[in-house]
Amino acid sequence: MSATLGLIADTITFSNVDGPGNRFVVFLQGCNFDCIACHNPYTINVCNNCGDCVSSCPSEALGFSLGGAVEWRAEACRGTDVCITTCPWDSTPKARRGDVDDLLAEIRRAAPFLSGVTVSGGEATQQAEFVLALFAAIKADPDLARLTCFVDSNGATERCTWTSLLPVMDGAMIDLKCLDAEIHRSMTGQPNDQVLESIRYLGAVDRLYEVRLLLIPGMNDDPRLLDTTARWLADVDPAMRLKLIGFRQHGVRTGARRLEEPTPEQMQAYEAIFEERGLFRLCVI
Ligand code: SF4
Ligand code: SF4
Repeated sequence: MSATLGLIADTITFSNVDGPGNRFVVFLQGCNFDCIACHNPYTINVCNNCGDCVSSCPSEALGFSLGGAVEWRAEACRGTDVCITTCPWDSTPKARRGDVDDLLAEIRRAAPFLSGVTVSGGEATQQAEFVLALFAAIKADPDLARLTCFVDSNGATERCTWTSLLPVMDGAMIDLKCLDAEIHRSMTGQPNDQVLESIRYLGAVDRLYEVRLLLIPGMNDDPRLLDTTARWLADVDPAMRLKLIGFRQHGVRTGARRLEEPTPEQMQAYEAIFEERGLFRLCVI
């Protein structure tokens, strides 16, 4: 049994939007960003056991351990997610400590139908040791070694994180919230220098599967900024796979519902800017 434990928010057995092919996805709990437009806000923080959600559960699936920690009983849960909407701390009482062997057992059951495994978040690289242990175990297992191993990341991590993962990681999807440092900080609460360095480095070592740009009208969609972004990305790799994602309000926190969704015409205008500037393999959603 592997001794490395991960804090796991959730798993999905089959996804076709988290990397190439059909993928098993592991969502890790905890993130070093606090994005205004986060679509999984309950994965940002680690539960602080405040207990505010316990009495909200209509299924009485939540309680306290003898030590005072909040406990979730999966067998009693009816999946209403009232606990998640009640939590004032962008967390969930359902995150669980799990080891690599637990995940391998789940992955084995789905393996005949899978192309690979993606670790997402929260922020996957915040638990890099666990990701490394999981990917190494997949590569070492004769029945699973054909599965590709991908990371879905905000890119805000040291280069040494990537160098440690390289022997077992087939690719990474990196979110670039904004090339402009100040706008990036206003959108995420954090600087973007490590994000840019990660994109450059992963491009140089041929592990950059995709860059993703989430576009929010009036926030990060100025045409000159997008043009500069297109030039910068083309300099990293003019043939990179680039996904332009229009902001959608579904799943975001209440405060983010004031943000505008781009119209189809705006999405076409964004696409035209990137088409003009590079030989990108563009995907617009
Ligand atoms: S990096 Fe991702 S998980 Fe973290 S806050 Fe931003 S959108 Fe949410
Ligand atoms: S999930 Fe949120 S509300 Fe519930 S105990 Fe943890 S921090 Fe408190």
